Amino acid sequence: GEGWDSSYLADDAEYDDALRPQRLSEVVGQRAVVERLEVFLDATRKRNEPLGHLLLDGPPGLGKTTLASVLPRELGTELQITSGPSLSAPKDLLPYLTNASHGSFLFIDEIHRMPATVEEFIYPAMEDFRVDITLGEGLNARTVNMKLQKFTVIGATTRSGMLTAPLRDRFVRREHLDFYEDVELIEIVRRNAKKLRTEITDEAAFEIARRSRGTPRKANNLLRWARDYATSKADGNITNDIVARAFEMLEIDQIGLERQDRRYLETLIKTFSGGPAGVQALGHSLNIPADTLEDEVEPFLLRSGFIQRSPRGRIVTMAALEHLKITPPESGTL
Ligand code: ATP
Repeated sequence: GEGWDSSYLADDAEYDDALRPQRLSEVVGQRAVVERLEVFLDATRKRNEPLGHLLLDGPPGLGKTTLASVLPRELGTELQITSGPSLSAPKDLLPYLTNASHGSFLFIDEIHRMPATVEEFIYPAMEDFRVDITLGEGLNARTVNMKLQKFTVIGATTRSGMLTAPLRDRFVRREHLDFYEDVELIEIVRRNAKKLRTEITDEAAFEIARRSRGTPRKANNLLRWARDYATSKADGNITNDIVARAFEMLEIDQIGLERQDRRYLETLIKTFSGGPAGVQALGHSLNIPADTLEDEVEPFLLRSGFIQRSPRGRIVTMAALEHLKITPPESGTL
């Protein structure tokens, strides 16, 4: 979004692809989800049927795209990829539906952002594997019914609450991805360093993991930065000392707070006297869309216990003041 400076470590699709697990067995963490998916896959294989439609929800960067690409590979079928915002009318979706071969997958990222017309168009496709196409206009308009191959929709969303009930109900399985533990992130960092043919110490892997905010994509981005830093300033090996210096340069603190998080907290403290402040008002002050705050900033601050949600808005906590080394006022709202 505008005025938003989180992109000094931009995502890189190619780098992401290179590090993405190829098989279900390479997926680290999310054990319960992976085990259920194994059962789901196994039953599908044994019955030789297409997989039921699957909805994945959870914060960005936790592996929704990874799972969506692993499943068709496990079944040896094709995968088509699109996203809610790029489907502005039924005609944008139609080619994906007609191209879908028997048992293949259609991944729709950010499915909650599909317009209503497209959503209505996809219902019969998901339910009965057919689409109703209207030809002509006015009095001459007629509806043609077209049969589709049996295929599987994998929907991904960061906000399952924004999905309409009819759409949500068309998914046979729904899985929620949650933040990763440090040990899991350490494992991901180690494996990916190996894929990048980079030496990394255990301590350095831990230092990256604990700044990754429970998010593999973040871990990858930080690993990439540490690797660049190590190559530029040293012999290319990632050590504890390299990691400390690399992150100081990025202004990422020891627990992974970035400048944007500190700006959020400081605004809540200084402009709104610690809150309660509505997310819209905070968004205005920070010049960041409220949606972005809710999706990308607040989850981590809530999880870290730095803010709380109340009916009247966000409130800063003592833990945040302590972390930022701000002395609370003698009396007042804090
Ligand atoms: P978004 O919802 O924003 O598209 P995402 O949840 O789809 O994000 P991915 O693109 O799947 O996130 O994951 C980003 C990167 O994190 C992958 O390239 C992969 O390297 C790593 N990763 C994610 N999940 C796992 C996992 N469970 N095990 C190992 N690596 C993972």
